[in-house]
Amino acid sequence: MTTINILSLNKTYLNQSAPVLKDFSLSTNDGEMVALLGPSGSGKSTLLKLITGIERPDSGDIQFDGSSILNIEPNKRGAVLMFQKSYLFPFLSVEENIGFGLKVQGASSETIRAEVKRMLNLIGLPGIERRKPGQLSGGEGQRVALARALVTNPKLLLLDEPLSSLDTSVRMNLQEAIRTIQREFGVTTIFVTHDLGEAMAMSDRMALLLNGGIVALDKPENLFHRPRSLAAARFMGVSTFLNGDQLPVKCEASLSSEKIFAIRPEHIRIQKEACKDSIQGVVSDCVFRGEYVEYQVAIDEMTVRARMTMPAQMFSHGEQVYVNFQSEKLFEIHW
Ligand code: ADP
Ligand code: MG
Repeated sequence: MTTINILSLNKTYLNQSAPVLKDFSLSTNDGEMVALLGPSGSGKSTLLKLITGIERPDSGDIQFDGSSILNIEPNKRGAVLMFQKSYLFPFLSVEENIGFGLKVQGASSETIRAEVKRMLNLIGLPGIERRKPGQLSGGEGQRVALARALVTNPKLLLLDEPLSSLDTSVRMNLQEAIRTIQREFGVTTIFVTHDLGEAMAMSDRMALLLNGGIVALDKPENLFHRPRSLAAARFMGVSTFLNGDQLPVKCEASLSSEKIFAIRPEHIRIQKEACKDSIQGVVSDCVFRGEYVEYQVAIDEMTVRARMTMPAQMFSHGEQVYVNFQSEKLFEIHW
């Protein structure tokens, strides 16, 4: 239904010296779910405010299907925003909350009733028309907020960390529900989160926001296995970077001290005995996480982070160990 082009946006808030967004560009395909992942304070919510018209950019353009929306009133842009808290009207019933947008558009009460019913079925909460928001759990409230956002068939759905206040099982449930409903509607969506796992689970593509701009944009699996830049690799949970001449093993790429290689923590093995190509180190930290154990191992002045699933052996702080890189899993990083 809608392609979004965000072109060279710049935004500095009044009384702030540094820009929040700097020459920020991002394009989405029709019907696509793009996750925007960035640390707290990186400007994610600011971007959504610029799209909905709550804030204005200093320069740059935002286009829906090739036409600028900057001079269109916020409530006529066709972008709906859903927040961490559902902000339902507390004194209105679920039906009145969901039907609100249709009522404003002048729809008949029969149409509204039918549409609300359809939306309640879609979000998996049939029959709760009469309830008040205070009688809903956090997860139910977010489902109703989603129904309210989608009932008017918006061009663009913007989700600003909608699941971050929910506990894990409700959250997983809702991730699935949002994904299914988003596909069913085919609505172009930007999903803002600071949670890597959530971004990967939800999105067709992931955009990584750092220092006011997108540092990487790709399918989650590509970013996970082969992030190209140091910044993207760090975002994706990689924290072991080696010069060519620090590598204990020969890998395909020629060994050169100018090249930087990275490896995911699950591709580093820690063991008690030396073996071919292993390097000696000392365990400097060990965190038990149930499904896996995270180790930090100091090797000379370098620290290596490893993640071992189902460890046969546990190693403790200060223990001398040998570190083994799965050489075929090393990949080159471009500075
Ligand atoms: P995020 O959603 O990624 O956490 P925000 O877009 O909310 O980040 O904020 C980005 C930066 O802009 C932060 O440093 C924040 O303090 C600042 N900021 C946000 N809104 C305003 C505002 N209305 N006035 C001044 N500074 C703001
Ligand atoms: Mg935010």
